[in-house]
Parts: sequence; structure tokens; C-alpha cells
Amino acid sequence: MSPAADSSSAFIDLHSHTDASDGSLTPAELIALAKHKGLAALAITDHDTFEGYRVALPLARTAGVNLVRGIELNSRLLVEGSAQPRFVHVLVYFPSREPSPAFQNWLEEQRTDRRSRNQKLAQALQDRGVDITLAEVEARGRTLAGRPHFARLLVEKGYAHNFEDAFHKYLGEDAPSYVERDSNTTEEVIALAREGGGIPVVAHPIRIGLSRLVEHEVLTRLEKAGLVGLEVYHSDHPPALQEYYRHLAAELGLLPTGGSDFHGTPKPDIELGSGRANNVKVPLEFLEGLQRFGR
Ligand code: AMP
Ligand code: ZN
Ligand code: FE
Ligand code: FE
Repeated sequence: MSPAADSSSAFIDLHSHTDASDGSLTPAELIALAKHKGLAALAITDHDTFEGYRVALPLARTAGVNLVRGIELNSRLLVEGSAQPRFVHVLVYFPSREPSPAFQNWLEEQRTDRRSRNQKLAQALQDRGVDITLAEVEARGRTLAGRPHFARLLVEKGYAHNFEDAFHKYLGEDAPSYVERDSNTTEEVIALAREGGGIPVVAHPIRIGLSRLVEHEVLTRLEKAGLVGLEVYHSDHPPALQEYYRHLAAELGLLPTGGSDFHGTPKPDIELGSGRANNVKVPLEFLEGLQRFGR
């Protein structure tokens, strides 16, 4: 096979989670699955931590899986004319460089803030008469506990019917026991990522919940602030929307990226590499674009 033909038929996944954040597979299991699926490359993009990537790297080398270092960060987007901030997930890739010590330190602070938010949230739930402790939650989040782990526990203990119900009643922004976690603005996260040697990408733009007009304005603004890429292919993007985002990325000078956002059992309908009912197919050239930018 010629290199060109090889490259055009190779598929990758640039968005996945391990049990170092809220996924269910260990790094070893995820690497084995990526190999089984024949992925030409995989990025581990856990929330706020490189721990899953760190453990997976030597295993990926042995298995011959091309592993890319990534991370998924939350940020607060201020939208003109709206009092409520929106939440934007920013994926940051390090295809050819190590994150700077300053960036690693900032991440450490994020994890400390998260832990203190978790403490307050456990207390707020206890104040509402819910019998749960922080230790029980942390036992479910191996290295990094978050609201998804609270949600699973609330369901297990019968306080909520399902995941959505747990957010609706106890954990979400409109619940009486909601505890806010300070997050940086999207512009700040983009700047931190660039200074730290990473490539920032807006994840699953559909979830920001903006009209097309406002979304266009916001992405134009973020590109000026240093944003490099847009997640075009994602399990939550139907084919027509992927087509739309691919054009939008080209128009705004953003690199297209894509991935399944695989979590394992917490999101059982999403498959590594192929997303929901095969709606995701990410070409290797998307990674090559990131690598060219990173050099
Ligand atoms: P945390 O970072 O601990 O605040 O948790 C945020 C995560 O909780 C998000 O990445 C989502 O996976 C999940 N989440 C947030 N809001 C909801 C919701 N309304 N329904 C289901 N999951 C949610
Ligand atoms: Zn997640
Ligand atoms: Fe996300
Ligand atoms: Fe994700």
C-alpha cells in the first residue's frame, strides 16, 4: 500500500476518557481497545489530569498504539447580553511538546479547587438529609472525583432514578444543593494552554447551546484570543452538523479535530473510534494538522 492510500484509510480518535477521570476503563484497557479497533492514533483527554495518559504511555508503546497527550478543561464563557455564563469545554493537545511546569502547576491548583468543591457539595447534600460521604464519592473516582461520581452514588443509594435525575435534583446549576466551582474564562484557558505549549480546541460546540449567529461571533472572538481548533466530529454531532462545523472551521481558520468522547459504561451508547451508531470517523490528517501546528 502506498503511504497516501494508507493515510487516507486510517482513522483515529482524539477524545477519550479513562478511569483517571470519569471514564470506566483503566488506561491499560483503553489501550487494548484502541489496538483491537485498529485506531491509527488515540488521544486520552481526561478532565483536569494527565494521570491516565501517564500510565497509558508505556503500554501504548508496547502495543504499537500512537498515543497523544491531551486534557479536557472547563471554562466560563461570557456572552454579550446574557447574565448567565455558558460553560465551554476546551480540549488541549500536546502532540509534540511536554506541558510547561507552569501549566502543570495551574492544573494542580484546579484539582485542589475541585476537591474543596467536592467537600462543600458533600456537606450541602448531607444538610439536605442525603446520607453520603466524600470518602464514598472519592472511592468511585480513582484519582479525580467529580459530579458524575456523585451522580452514580446518588443513583446507587436510591436518591435519584438515574444520572439526569441526580443532576436535576441535587447536582446541577438549578438544584438547591448546587455548589459552583470557580472556573477561568474561556479566553484565559486558551491563553494558559498556549503559554503551556498546548493546542487549544473548543470541544463539542453544540453543547454550548448558542444560536448559530452568536456561536459564529464567539468563535471568531476566541480565534483572535488564540484558539487553534474546533471539534468538528463528535458523538453529539449529527452528520449534517459535522458538515456545518467543518465549513465553519475552514472559514474561521481553525483546525478541525474530532473524537468519540468515549467514557465506557457511563455512556454505553458511545463506542471508541466510531461514536454513536458510527457517526464519528476521524481521518489521520486531523492529527497531522495538530502536529504541523505544534512544531
Ligand atoms: P464536574 O467537573 O465535577 O463539575 O462535573 C462536570 C461533569 O458532569 C460534566 O463534564 C458532565 O459530564 C456532567 N454533567 C454536568 N451537568 C450535567 C447534567 N445536567 N446532566 C448530566 N451530566 C452532567
Ligand atoms: Zn467526562
Ligand atoms: Fe466535554
Ligand atoms: Fe470529554
